Amino acid sequence: MANIVLLGAPGAGKGTQAALIKEKYNLPHISTGDIFRKNIREGTPLGVQVKAIIDRGELVPDELTVALVKDRLAQPDCKDGYILDGFPRTIAQAEALEGFSKVDMAINIAVENEAVIGRIAGRRMCKCGETYHVSTYDREECAKCGSRLYQRDDDREEVVRERLRVYDEQTKPLIDFYANRNLLRTVDGSGGVDATFELVCKVIDGNR
Ligand code: AMP
Repeated sequence: MANIVLLGAPGAGKGTQAALIKEKYNLPHISTGDIFRKNIREGTPLGVQVKAIIDRGELVPDELTVALVKDRLAQPDCKDGYILDGFPRTIAQAEALEGFSKVDMAINIAVENEAVIGRIAGRRMCKCGETYHVSTYDREECAKCGSRLYQRDDDREEVVRERLRVYDEQTKPLIDFYANRNLLRTVDGSGGVDATFELVCKVIDGNR
């Protein structure tokens, strides 16, 4: 049983690490960003509601996001644990989460702001959920499903700067929030994917 929250700036590697944790520990990976993007792609009412907000690099309102996550965590596949990636992003969301689920640990993937800009610029996505980086993958199709890779609209540099500003202002305070509850575990995310994952596993195994 492990209810895990992943913290870290945009581009710190939350999604990549979440996918690896999912594989190794068999926990569902819940990314609010992925859920919003899927809704935007499919043109659902939720997608229409959030598209402009996300394209500007701002945050979707807490009430809407909290309701979505509350619903998702009530699904049977979350009963033995979960990985939350991109939620909570504000103190209000973290407080709301305490009302319906007990977080076991918040793993903060620490990376300098300057480093994440380069990481995000080279990031490529697939609609199946895979993510790549141009420095390690030079094909234009997904290795898993063959679909054409794309760059997220909000990965453009001016939007990235706004997302980093929003992170510093609204999400960074969560580090203290979880530290105060003795739930914070910080790992150095500046190394490669595998090196970071080793540190993440140590943290998870230490808590089990
Ligand atoms: P991400 O894929 O986690 O970088 O999220 C992409 C975008 O979705 C963010 O820049 C926000 O606009 C929105 N978003 C994702 N998660 C949240 C959240 N927990 N609260 C508010 N907005 C969110």
